Formats: sequence, C-alpha cells, structure tokens
Amino acid sequence: MEIMETRVLILGGGATGTGLARDLALRGVDCLLAERRDINAGASGGNHGLLHSGARYVASDAAAAIECREEGELLKRLAPQCIEDTGGLFVAVQGDDENYIANFESMCAASTVPTRPLDLAEARHLEPALSDRLIAAYATEDASVDPFMLSLDNLAQAVDKGARYLRNAKLVGFEMDGGRIARSVFLNQTAGERFAIEAEIVVNATGAWAGMVAALAGAHIDILYSSGSLLVTQDRLTTRVVNRLRKAADSDILVPGGTVSVLGTTSVTIDSPDLCRPTVAEADAIIDDARAMIPVLETTRYIRAYAGVRPLVMVAGVGDARSVSRNFSLIDHEKDDVDNFVTITGGKLTTYRLMAERTGDLVCAKLGVDAPCTTRIEPLPASTRGEWTEPGLGPRRWIGERDGDDIILCECEMVSRKAVNQIIDGMDGQYGSSLLNGIGLRSRVGKGPCQGGFCGLRVTGHLYDEGYVSGLRGVHEMHAFTRRRWRGLRPVLWGLPLVQADLQEALYCGALDLELEADARDDGGDL
Ligand SMILES: Cc1cc2nc3c(=O)[nH]c(=O)nc-3n(C[C@H](O)[C@H](O)[C@H](O)COP(=O)(O)OP(=O)(O)OC[C@H]3O[C@@H](n4cnc5c(N)ncnc54)[C@H](O)[C@@H]3O)c2cc1C
Repeated sequence: MEIMETRVLILGGGATGTGLARDLALRGVDCLLAERRDINAGASGGNHGLLHSGARYVASDAAAAIECREEGELLKRLAPQCIEDTGGLFVAVQGDDENYIANFESMCAASTVPTRPLDLAEARHLEPALSDRLIAAYATEDASVDPFMLSLDNLAQAVDKGARYLRNAKLVGFEMDGGRIARSVFLNQTAGERFAIEAEIVVNATGAWAGMVAALAGAHIDILYSSGSLLVTQDRLTTRVVNRLRKAADSDILVPGGTVSVLGTTSVTIDSPDLCRPTVAEADAIIDDARAMIPVLETTRYIRAYAGVRPLVMVAGVGDARSVSRNFSLIDHEKDDVDNFVTITGGKLTTYRLMAERTGDLVCAKLGVDAPCTTRIEPLPASTRGEWTEPGLGPRRWIGERDGDDIILCECEMVSRKAVNQIIDGMDGQYGSSLLNGIGLRSRVGKGPCQGGFCGLRVTGHLYDEGYVSGLRGVHEMHAFTRRRWRGLRPVLWGLPLVQADLQEALYCGALDLELEADARDDGGDL
C-alpha cells in the first residue's frame, strides 16, 4: 500500500476544508486535503448562496447574527470576485406576525446588524416583483456568494503556497496507535486501490459526514441531518436578496445568483446525509408558500431543483432542526482520548473563513507552531480555476475575444471549447470517474435551460476529440452527468421543463439508449 506523509491531513473539500488548507498554507504549515469526490461535493455545492447580513438570525441567535455580519463584511472586502453585493430586503405580507415585525428593527440594532425601514412604495419600486399585499419592508446588507468560486480560489492559493490535494480519495478507516491516529486509510475511487496517509494531525472537515468519520476513530458526535431543497428559476427575478420578515421558516428567501434566482429552502430531518435529494412535495410547498411574497414565483419557469444537508450538532434537550444552533462546532478529540484528531463541522458558508481560522489556531497550538492567521487581512486572490463558475462570463469573453476558431460547446451559458480546455488544465489530471461532472462543477455547463441536453453531448464529443476519453468511457461520463441533471429536473416537471425533459429523454434514451432514472440513494450535494 502506498503511504504518503504530511503534517496536517484535512478530510473534506468543501468551503471549510479548502479554507483551512489556505489558512494553514499561509501560515507555512505543510498540509494535504483529501476529498472523496470533488471540490464542493457536499453542502458547499448544495446551498442557497446567501452571504448572510445576520438579519435572519437576530431573533433566534444574536451571536450568530453578529458573526455573520462581521464575516460578511470581511468577505465583501477580501474576496469581492466571489460576492455580488446585491443588498437585501426583509418584507412581510398580510397575515405575517405583527409582533415580529414590530421588534425587528430593535433586534437588528441589538445585534449591530444594519437595517433601514423602507416605505412600501419604495420597496416595490426597488423590487417590482414584490406582492402588493406588503405590510412592512426593511433594507439589509445581504449579498449573494458563488460557493464554487470561493472554494476553488481558496484551494488555488493553498496549492500556490505548497499545499497538496487529492480528489476521489475517500477515507475508509484509521489505523490507531494508542491514543493517536497513526495512519488514515483511503480508497482511490478512480483506481479502486487503497493507500494511506501519515499525518501529525488529522482534521475532520467532512461536514454532514463528520459523525461517520469521527466514529472510525472511536469518537462520537451526535449529528442531526437537516436536508434543504432549493429551486432555480430560469431568469433573475429580483436585483436584491429578498427575505420573508418572519421567524425563520421554509420558503423564506430568494437569492439572485447571476442570471437566475434561487428559492428556498426547507428543513427536513433525514436518517443519513447520503439520502438527500429534492422532492416533488418540497418543490410544491416552497412555491405555494413563497408566492405570497413574490406572486410571479407561481408561474415562473423553474429549470431545476437541488438539495444539501446541514450537519446540526445536537446539544442535549434541543428540539427540532430549526431550533438547533447553526453555529459551528470545533471539537478537539483529546476528550475522546484521540490526541491528534480535530473535527470542524456545522456553521455556514458565510462563516467558513472564521471556522478555518479557529481550526488553524487549534491545529497550530497542537503542533507548537507560532504563526498567526492572516486570512482576516489578506485578500483572497482570484484564480483561473474558479473564474468559469461566474454566470455571464462566457458571453462576455466570447464577444470580447472574437476568436473565430473557438466554438461554443454550451449554448445556453456560452461556454466555449477554449474555456473547457482551461478548466481541464486546472484539474491537475485528477479527473476521477467523471470529467464531465468536474467540468460542470467548474463552469456553467449544464446549468442553463437545456440542463445538459445539448451541451452534455457536445462537451463529451470534445473530450473524445481531444483524447481525454475513449471507447465507452465518454458514454459512461454522459450517463453520470445526465443522471445528476435529471435528479434536479424531476421535482419541477411541468410546463416548459416537461417539454425540455421529453426532448432530453428522446436525445439520451432514444438516440443513445441511456437510462435517465435518478438513484434513490445519493451521496449528497449537488454538482
Ligand atoms: C440547503 C442548504 C442551504 C444553505 N444555505 C446557506 C446560505 O445561503 N448561506 C450560508 O452561509 N450557508 C448556507 N448553508 C450552509 C453551508 O452550505 C455549509 O455550512 C457549508 O457549505 C459547509 O461546508 P463544509 O466544508 O463544512 O461541509 P461540506 O461542504 O459538506 O464538505 C464536506 C466534504 O467532505 C467530503 N467527505 C465526506 N466524507 C468523506 C470521506 N470519508 N473522505 C473524504 N471526504 C469526505 C464530502 O464529499 C464533502 O465535499 C446551507 C446549507 C444547506 C444544506
């Protein structure tokens, strides 16, 4: 069995793991990140993309509200390429709790979360899609964040500073030596072979899977799995983030993300993070509730649904998923008699940097390294690995460069052959079992109205032309890609998406004899 060595092994390639890799690399600490699938394969690729101003938490958790406000302000300044500073509105409609509305401004003030009351006419002028049954409106500092660009940029700087990473590397066990992890054993999911990593410290940043990973070292974390589903509209419906002004509930938030809007979410307790997927019932319930705030949500075209799992670390005596704290948990497993093992889980995308900082501080203290965290002051450089996730970049580049030899492979989002080649170059040869899914994750391929119907075929053709795939491999890649897109289409199959799905079925099942049925079992997240 091959054995690799590192000072710090980071398990999990979401926002927290990639943020920690950057944090440690900037402190000069040798680290290696291992991800079982691909970057953002978990909640970091299946969330709402809201950079919280804190206003959503002022009633339930003032500390979380302050943390979000502080981290949101930092990220706007230090990682502007990943943020669209849209601003936000909190709005209430007839029938919403008037006590909550009356207390909102003072709760925001108590948590130092900036907010400003708006005249109803002004609110509807700012966002014409809002209901005419509005009874209160406030302006807040919410924004939207591109989680893929964020993680890819974090990883890019970590690698520049000497960190290493492995994709398709699933941790399957630990070899213990007394009260320490001596070796972490992995399965290379591409080659099907086992290998091991020896590290001075192992950090478990596997999000919703943290309890399962901790159990492999004999440690226990009580985690509640809260699945949330989200719907993507074909067009961008509002300029700003729009939140429902009420105690946190389902279907409260519409986040603009480039050319689309994302509506959600839900909170459904599930038995395993591997069983997370959006359902028809959730899609119906989200739209039914949210149309009171924005009526056009009832008739707009939805292009897909997706879901992610929130790992909520249980504290004895707490009730349902919405009332469990969404703060993060940093656990030193010395308390479980495992000296060199740390878990970081829970929290939010908005607070990922702080989570990485606190974890980096603990790791450095354990290693005896005296190097301070610099991510609070040092800007996150924009990288070429993350740039193609930006909506609208494809057409801008295409028109700007006017390169006649560069053909478009994804027409909906105008991703060109040159862009696809650049993305593949940035994957450092770690293609895994589906290069096509990896390209989809790092770009807008498959994310437009055709949902992979045409671009899946074209990009696969390009992979054959360039020699990246041969034989049946490309067909298997396309199968994996379309199954993933299909899973997101099923909950929104009415009107135009139904027509689109019919066409997709004719193309893939009729012409290529592929089966589009989605797996009942899933490995979490949305690529
Ligand atoms: C529906 C939903 C909506 C949300 N909306 C927002 C929002 O709008 N704003 C916000 O701030 N936060 C939001 N969040 C929270 C946010 O998404 C998460 O807090 C954040 O993404 C967690 O990142 P992470 O890196 O800790 O975990 P993850 O992103 O889940 O990463 C864990 C990684 O570990 C990997 N892994 C698992 N097991 C193994 C193994 N055995 N070996 C190797 N790797 C392994 C997984 O594949 C995964 O990539 C939302 C969450 C959900 C579920």
